Amino acid sequence: MPAAGPSSEPIIPTAPLTARMRDSLRAIVGEKGFIEDEHGKQPFVTDWRGLLVGQAGAVVRPGSTEEVAAVVRLCHEHGVAIVPQGGNTGLMGGATPWPAHTGIVLSLGRMNRVLDIDATGYTMTVEAGCVLQSLQETASRHDRFLPLSLGAQGSCMIGGNLSTNAGGVQVLRYGNARNLVLGLEVVLPNGEVWDGLRALKKDNTGYDLKHLFMGAEGTLGIITKAVLKLWPAPKDVCTAWLAIRDPRAALEILSDAHSASEDNVGSCELMSRAAVDMVLRHIPGTQDPLKADTPWYLLLEWSSSRARQDGAAGIAEKMEQFLGDQLEAGRVLDAVIAQTGNQSRNMWHIRESVAQASRAEGPGLSYDVSVAISRIPEFIDLGLKAVRDILPSIRPYPLGHIGDGNLHFSFMAPDGMDQQTLTQYKNAITRAVNDLITSMDGSISAEHGIGIDKLDELSHYRSKTELDIMRTIKRALDPENIMNPGKVLRL
Ligand SMILES: Cc1cc2nc3c(=O)[nH]c(=O)nc-3n(C[C@H](O)[C@H](O)[C@H](O)COP(=O)(O)OP(=O)(O)OC[C@H]3O[C@@H](n4cnc5c(N)ncnc54)[C@H](O)[C@@H]3O)c2cc1C
Repeated sequence: MPAAGPSSEPIIPTAPLTARMRDSLRAIVGEKGFIEDEHGKQPFVTDWRGLLVGQAGAVVRPGSTEEVAAVVRLCHEHGVAIVPQGGNTGLMGGATPWPAHTGIVLSLGRMNRVLDIDATGYTMTVEAGCVLQSLQETASRHDRFLPLSLGAQGSCMIGGNLSTNAGGVQVLRYGNARNLVLGLEVVLPNGEVWDGLRALKKDNTGYDLKHLFMGAEGTLGIITKAVLKLWPAPKDVCTAWLAIRDPRAALEILSDAHSASEDNVGSCELMSRAAVDMVLRHIPGTQDPLKADTPWYLLLEWSSSRARQDGAAGIAEKMEQFLGDQLEAGRVLDAVIAQTGNQSRNMWHIRESVAQASRAEGPGLSYDVSVAISRIPEFIDLGLKAVRDILPSIRPYPLGHIGDGNLHFSFMAPDGMDQQTLTQYKNAITRAVNDLITSMDGSISAEHGIGIDKLDELSHYRSKTELDIMRTIKRALDPENIMNPGKVLRL
């Protein structure tokens, strides 16, 4: 392991998966739920980026909550460690076992049923292994909207989304994944099932336990089911691609857009020219929506659940008027409004393909940070200077969910530099970026979590009080440290 990992491996339980345990696991999940050959295990022990490769005694794929609970009970009895896994698209290594891991990867992929959809009550009850995009499509078939939306939606699973408290491109309006949840069912590290699968908007009966498990990255238990909130389906949508003066203009545009759109801003994504060019280089079929003499672009989408009425101004007309005003104010330099579904999809395809394009581009570094929205331009200026002071020829391609104060502060290695050489600069650059964001009261991980990659950073940047509370919760729920050990906290 791993170019991306922390300075040293944490101590994790290494109880072996004995022949008897293998037989017992096979008896619980059946032949089709048990993978132990090296070739079959490979995709489950390698992370999406191809940077981390771990080990596992077996991959276990239960088909129901009862099977998950039986597997966890057995592992708990024998002190065998478990790495929960959904779609394995996480970017921090949380779903990848450590090389020293001797236990199992528990994959939720077979638990992929929609159990109930209550269109009148705007809720949907689902199993953890449902692929996000299939849930969006199910909601849409019922004229409802599940707003969680991100580049990996074709393969990430709702259990993984909730465990990472995923963000994505609709947070501005609907909030993070945790805001979309009414109830959860969780298998605890001792195999007990916590049934919190309630569809209640109001429930002030003590601590709100569901929020413990969301964002916990599988370290406190396994999410098996969830009740999700739904919204009315968007009926009138307008997507625009703007060439803008600079990041401060982006903030001013967004600030004005809220009232101009009558509170209908769905997404506002900042893109650097370098990020757009990288996608155009590597992702077949993408087309440049607008070439202008500026390093900064904005993907702005407004949407309303009210269908366009004959004779009345729809969202597109309001957007046109708005962009005219912003051009006049000098914030927008040029803009194009998507006239067809294909044009809109092309804009979104560019935005959502950045992670894939960066994988194709070669070695790089990326920091998923957040800061108070109005301080983003200051962070970009100071951050670029700090990184260039360390490695002047590094190639930045910043982008981000600017309405959430969330930047993916990303860099390609200088032309011709290999991963090993870049790694020599990594610690200094990471420290410079994270010191800066911390000095600005920001976060070193806005939406991707901690996993393996940021173990050292979390313990460096969080206060003793915060770390003590986190450790106390972890030890109370998982005293044997079998649930995704060595992730988030070293202990
Ligand atoms: C192209 C691309 C674009 C992305 N864009 C975004 C983005 O815009 N916003 C964003 O937030 N993230 C983004 N991500 C990161 C990633 O997709 C999300 O973190 C996603 O929520 C992970 O879901 P998953 O099912 O793949 O989880 P996994 O990668 O399988 O697991 C992630 C973590 O959750 C734990 N886990 C998984 N399932 C469960 C469960 N049922 N119970 C308990 N723990 C579990 C794992 O142990 C691990 O710690 C992107 C990734 C890619 C590859």
